[in-house]
Amino acid sequence: MSEDCIFCQIIAGEIPSNTVAETDEAYAFLDVNPLARGHTLVVPKDHHERVGDMPADTAGELFELVNEITPAVEQAVDAPASTVAFNNGEDAGQEVPHVHCHIVPRFAEDGGKPIHSLFTGADLSDDEMAEIADAVRDEQ
Ligand code: AMP
Ligand code: ZN
Repeated sequence: MSEDCIFCQIIAGEIPSNTVAETDEAYAFLDVNPLARGHTLVVPKDHHERVGDMPADTAGELFELVNEITPAVEQAVDAPASTVAFNNGEDAGQEVPHVHCHIVPRFAEDGGKPIHSLFTGADLSDDEMAEIADAVRDEQ
């Protein structure tokens, strides 16, 4: 546990939350400032800041819970769809430095947009694409 982390304090029961699910390694609760009815956060119980910081089994359990409750969240608020996303790092808009997955229920004509609308797009040549793929393979 990280003492000054708000999500660690929620998991420890020191700060109240509207809990929706809990497993050995993961915890899910309603976002206190919901972007839509049913907006839910899913977090690992151990404090890790970003995707990629978690051991594989923790990441697996986190996604297992995301996989399990996403349909439940949608059904609970009668939503036909959802946006499931991580803000990963401060420059990507992550405000709470404890990795968390947002499940935001979506409705036709809710005014929301797809994740693609966040970006203007990168115009890359075939060579640049191949170089990037090489670099990602090399970094693993
Ligand atoms: P992010 O910008 O991806 O770091 O998202 C952090 C989210 O945590 C925001 O959507 C906040 O509304 C939410 N949040 C902050 N404090 C609490 C809290 N005490 N209980 C539930 N959600 C919270
Ligand atoms: Zn934490």
